[in-house]
Amino acid sequence: MTKKHILGFPRIGANRELKRAVEAYWKKEITQDDLMQKGQKIEEKNWKIQFDQNASFITVGDFSYYDHILDTSAMLGVVPDRFEHVKGKNVDLDTIFTMGRGQAPNKKETTALAMKKWFNTNYHYMVPEFEQNQTFSLANTNLFNSIERAQKLNYNVKPVLVGPLTYLWLGKENTNFDKLSLLNSLLITYNQILEELKKRNITWIQIDEPILTLELPEVWQKAFISAYEQLKFNNLNALLATYFGDLGNNLDIVSKLPIHGLHIDLCSNNNQLTEIIQKFPHTKILSVGIVNGRNIWKTDLNKSLKLLKEIKPYFGENLWVATSCSLLHSPVDLDSELKLDNEIKGWLAFAKQKVAEVTILANGLANGDNTISNLLEENQLLLKSRSNSNRIHNNEVKQRIKDLTPALANRKNTFATRVKKQAEVLNLPLFPTTTIGSFPQTSEIRKIRQEFKNGKLDINTYTLKIREEIKETIHKQETLNLEVLVHGEAERNDMVEYFGELLNGFTFTSNGWVQSYGSRCVKPPVIYGDISRTKPMTIEWLEYAQSLTKVPVKGMLTGPVTILSWSFVRDDQPHKDTALQIALALRDEVTDLEKAGIKIIQIDEPAFREALPLKKKDWQNYLDWAVYSFKISSSSVADETQIHTHMCYSEFNDVIQSIAALDADVITLETSRGNMELLKAFEVFKYPNDIGPGVYDIHSPRIPTTAEIVEQLEKMLKYIPLNRLWVNPDCGLKTRNWREVQEALHNMVAAAKLLRQKYEKSSI
Ligand code: GLN
Ligand code: ZN
Repeated sequence: MTKKHILGFPRIGANRELKRAVEAYWKKEITQDDLMQKGQKIEEKNWKIQFDQNASFITVGDFSYYDHILDTSAMLGVVPDRFEHVKGKNVDLDTIFTMGRGQAPNKKETTALAMKKWFNTNYHYMVPEFEQNQTFSLANTNLFNSIERAQKLNYNVKPVLVGPLTYLWLGKENTNFDKLSLLNSLLITYNQILEELKKRNITWIQIDEPILTLELPEVWQKAFISAYEQLKFNNLNALLATYFGDLGNNLDIVSKLPIHGLHIDLCSNNNQLTEIIQKFPHTKILSVGIVNGRNIWKTDLNKSLKLLKEIKPYFGENLWVATSCSLLHSPVDLDSELKLDNEIKGWLAFAKQKVAEVTILANGLANGDNTISNLLEENQLLLKSRSNSNRIHNNEVKQRIKDLTPALANRKNTFATRVKKQAEVLNLPLFPTTTIGSFPQTSEIRKIRQEFKNGKLDINTYTLKIREEIKETIHKQETLNLEVLVHGEAERNDMVEYFGELLNGFTFTSNGWVQSYGSRCVKPPVIYGDISRTKPMTIEWLEYAQSLTKVPVKGMLTGPVTILSWSFVRDDQPHKDTALQIALALRDEVTDLEKAGIKIIQIDEPAFREALPLKKKDWQNYLDWAVYSFKISSSSVADETQIHTHMCYSEFNDVIQSIAALDADVITLETSRGNMELLKAFEVFKYPNDIGPGVYDIHSPRIPTTAEIVEQLEKMLKYIPLNRLWVNPDCGLKTRNWREVQEALHNMVAAAKLLRQKYEKSSI
């Protein structure tokens, strides 16, 4: 028998039951007992799915009411003082929720822990906070309770723990000290956890150490050796789980650790397989992640089986078959997609289907291909139908990609020339004011879109109603005296979905939700085929908006990298090719906007920074195609047309050169929370084009004063020449209400005027 298992299962429930239950509990509509009952039901369903597929182990400990890193903090007693947890007591669910979101029933409101992206996925975890004298203690027993419940059901349980080094790495020190100094004390508590597991007759545990796929500093590599030597596994077997990439030179460390097995992710790449076969002892378990936990495509069973068969001679029965990572990043169950086109549905597998794929592969490996020949054949037919489908291939698009030349990615002239021509057309004052694109998404706007989607509004009524919204938004901006206006994005539910719906090659699921953070889920569009425009996507709205005013209205598009990163992408061609196809579709839109008389066009790339690969050595390659696709999308226009871009989420310093290489005429940046950091980059790097670092934080309802904004701008003027500086909020305004927006923008415009009075003379 070949052993088979998964690294984790989505916890939101097939119909987002957990989201609903948790939110109802927060609103005090249900009791904590009700919530736990619902949670346990999902957990048990997930176990049953694995059991029904004959998984060798039932994975336990992957469930969470909010976030599994937060749960680990609770288990280890890492609760900052502001949450008023009494040391020695159990960290209860309300405390966990308060740490996650700042509030919970029966708890004092306070600032939540910080949230951060989980490696290069779109999941976000709660950042552990350490103090210099941090102590650790076994402070939550949820894991053991789950184990006992699963054992009562007679399951062979494999608990999952976040490894001690990954846990430390993900956290942050609240004062200036080195968190690695906490390791020894942390390990004492880990050993207590191991003791508890031994008491419960556990044979295998999965210890997740995904940081082993990063380029680790040497001290951290060394810490792995010392930590794993201190962990007392005894007759507990430890499977060290790594995912999201290869191990790089961490492999040498891993091969020496006193662990009993290693899990590797062969879906992110299999470059290192030969080296692993050479270096990792064949007497230990090698768990091979061959079913991709991060996408929605059916596994190529023949290809995967072939790869497994190459490894088997070395590891024999010690070779286990698994998902590449936890299935957390994949939607729950394809069977609930009742509206999805049947042909496309045949190409897909969600979490539940992926569990079955693992089993098929393990069975094939154990008993021979012939024992699963029907399944292999069926799989082959579906994959063939996918690769040959004319819904995927569009020769015209492929030809355009082939015909691309670098010249198409360059504006006709340099910024120095363009900026003069643009000044003549636009005639903007010093410190021009603008916004990032969206204005409040009021309940009326949502209702209009909803009713149109449900067929309650016909297209004409819908258009009229959206036009009304645009008209009012333009009017309000004129009253505020902004220099560059926007139409407000009332027609957009989401900045990626809106474009996906108007592009060929995209489809949408009805229930393909994945957890983003806490109770928040996203339903990414699926890119399955070559991308092209079905028709102009934004022209009508923009043309209408511009017809209402003499002040320039900025066209608003979502850039190729962002559309790509926030979708499920094709696995049959490199990301670069998909990005270029999106870029060409956008290029057509940009050209049409210009033809329609739009003089300023913004192409948003909020995901530009977050899509950076995990390993530094892979950065340049990514940055090259990311910059290239942006430039393909933006370079068809005349010198006179001004291209803007916008990015969020800070931390630009390490990619500032590539941001400059986009050659956008103007960039607006989210900075208000990390302002000084960004400005530091400008001490060494002179950003060449126009720039608008956000002057206030749109995430907060607080109204910034004029004086504050002036102060911000003065700081920026130390680094940015005065004729290059724009004045804008730091991101879109859709989550704010109109009162907040109007008051804040009023102060912002006033600040720009004050500055103009002060500096106008000196610039002449
Ligand atoms: N134009 C978008 C908006 O204003 C940009 C959103 C973003 O940066 N994430 O909403
Ligand atoms: Zn933004």
